[in-house]
Amino acid sequence: MGSSTLAACAPKEGKKGGKKGNKVTLNLSFQEGIAPGNSLAEKLDFMENLGIVGFEPSGKNLAARVDEITQALSGRNIKVSAICAGFKGFILAEDPEVKTLFDTTMREIVAAAGALGSVGVIMVPAFNSQKPCMPHTLETRNYLCEQLHELGEYALSCGTTVILEPLNRKEAFYMRLVADAAAIARDAQSAGVKCMGDFWHMKEETSDYGALMSAGKEYLQHVHMASRGRRIMPGEDGELDVYTDGFRALKEMEYDKYVSFECGTKGDRATTVTNAVNLLREQWEKV
Ligand code: MG
Repeated sequence: MGSSTLAACAPKEGKKGGKKGNKVTLNLSFQEGIAPGNSLAEKLDFMENLGIVGFEPSGKNLAARVDEITQALSGRNIKVSAICAGFKGFILAEDPEVKTLFDTTMREIVAAAGALGSVGVIMVPAFNSQKPCMPHTLETRNYLCEQLHELGEYALSCGTTVILEPLNRKEAFYMRLVADAAAIARDAQSAGVKCMGDFWHMKEETSDYGALMSAGKEYLQHVHMASRGRRIMPGEDGELDVYTDGFRALKEMEYDKYVSFECGTKGDRATTVTNAVNLLREQWEKV
């Protein structure tokens, strides 16, 4: 095919510049361990200098940290993004005491998340290591949807949501694809139940684009970011660290939530974090 034919097949750009006029912003967020710094204030200073707009704390002890976090973010262009788990027990526990422990601690975190204006609290229904667990059956799925409905309605009353996180099969066989998490969120029949994608776990998916699109803007409430070989900083795994297919989905659905770093590093943190942010912004602009 000649180059003129290729040019004729190229997507037409709109009046405002087509895809280059795409104004969807990449809202980057860091978990608490990502930025270098000896205190929360030092970490937030580093983040602000890089233009990071979200902060994702753990849910552990969150109720006691609401004032500390609110004060630390006051006057900054950084908001709480999601809250990462931190509860005890698990929702599919067979032992009623473990289930009660989940209900109590999760609701405490959800209330604190609401007070902080968070987009939601991340949860996994059951890690492979959590036993005894309800069997992976249709009845269990129905039970999960019922329980999530109640939890989602509670989260809404607090001004936030609960976010289902699919993991890779080695960590959580129960729910490992974004589409499955989105379908469970839908079937929970509560606007307070959402889902997310994690580029590390999404190695299980056949398509980053398809996975994120399957949740769409209605259910996709958060995204986790890491390199794709060793779960370190994007760019540290070289050619493996391509996010453009997923970014294209986020842009097309006009995703307005956060893409939040959840990963380690093998290098000098200040350098690898800065390089990772630059790499993601380059790839975002490309699509
Ligand atoms: Mg994750």
